[in-house]
Amino acid sequence: MTAVIPIHADAGCTDSPVLMERGQREVFCGLTGIIWLHRKMQDAFFLVVGSRTCAHLIQSAAGVMIFAEPRFATAILDERDLAGLADAQDELDRVVKRLLERRPDIRLLFLVGSCPSEVIKLDLSRAAARLSQEFMPQVRVLNYSGSGIETTFTQGEDACLAALVPVLPISTQQHEPELLIVGALADVVEDQFSRLFTAMGVKRFAFFPSRSSTALPAVGPQTRVLLAQPFLGDTAKALESRGATRVPAPFPLGAEGSAAWMQAAGSAMGLSADAVEQAIAPARQRAETALAAHRASLAGKSIFFFPDSQLEVPLARFLARELGMRLTEVGSPYLHRQHLAEELAWLPTGTQLSEGQDVEKQLDRCRAAQPDMVVCGLGLANPLEAEGFTTKWSIELVFTPIQGFEQAGDLAGLFTRPLTRRTLLAA
Ligand code: SF4
Repeated sequence: MTAVIPIHADAGCTDSPVLMERGQREVFCGLTGIIWLHRKMQDAFFLVVGSRTCAHLIQSAAGVMIFAEPRFATAILDERDLAGLADAQDELDRVVKRLLERRPDIRLLFLVGSCPSEVIKLDLSRAAARLSQEFMPQVRVLNYSGSGIETTFTQGEDACLAALVPVLPISTQQHEPELLIVGALADVVEDQFSRLFTAMGVKRFAFFPSRSSTALPAVGPQTRVLLAQPFLGDTAKALESRGATRVPAPFPLGAEGSAAWMQAAGSAMGLSADAVEQAIAPARQRAETALAAHRASLAGKSIFFFPDSQLEVPLARFLARELGMRLTEVGSPYLHRQHLAEELAWLPTGTQLSEGQDVEKQLDRCRAAQPDMVVCGLGLANPLEAEGFTTKWSIELVFTPIQGFEQAGDLAGLFTRPLTRRTLLAA
């Protein structure tokens, strides 16, 4: 039998003090989420209502991934809109009509708010309701905010999924629990999890977001929500308001995290720990073997996390427990104590945690700690490399499939590679 998950265990960093910081931030805005969401939701289109800056951000972040007709665009607010000289609602209607005429494959259209649309108080929820009325049942129109005023990097996904929750069908399931895995996962990871859940004997499970907007999962009091990502606070709240119950679990990073996540799913679905262990044992063994190859390079090395993706705490737990790295500071834009309870319990006691950012102060702490590796956003990576630090871009950890047993070795490799490269350069 596998180790029992220490859910709500009074251990590790459960009650550790957190350094709260409010100052200058170096974080991408929530528009960035469109880059992975458009690949996941294959009949959706994301129309950013923003400025040329927003368009440039999306184009440069996604540029290499555009092969054919992209499924995102920016409706640019010009000076007349911003000065209130034109009716932006009318212009938006015209842009949407033109888009839908040209792209009959779109089934779900998101109007994505930005800093400029918020500054001029453009009511996108009104626009979405009006346009939905006009284009349903062919196209549903929803809205959410990806603005840098309101959201950081991964919160765009949270806002997008939370906007979808009210339109999920009502589940008719009365007595048996049904599992809903929540958070965008690469298709390859989703397929692996599907195979494992089936092998465990889970009969009713679905993923949210689904690949097609015409096959949205149903939700109701029998729904058991298993979060696959740690940044989905609003989505979880919206699902709970529809009667669903969240399953407490760590996140599926590394062999240990994936096993505990699977065990939590099994327990929520009424399976025994032995049945789950039997189904996952070969995959877990492969993950442990893959990790052993990286432990020699990473054990004893120190690492410092700047806040960026909200993946920092689960990543730190994985690196400390499974690869023996030393945590100097683990910063996160937002620490959701409830959703991270199992992760915090697993962090080594005494780990320095910080929430929010005051970038200059944090840079000072980083320089004082002299870590072997720094995980940070793109804006900080180059200057820190120039100062001699080895860095890892946190955005890469969101774009790369890292969840589950089969990806555990690849995830460790993302940290081994920068260290190896630095050693080679030094030689
Ligand atoms: S939403 Fe705001 S932060 Fe994001 S690209 Fe547009 S202007 Fe910049």
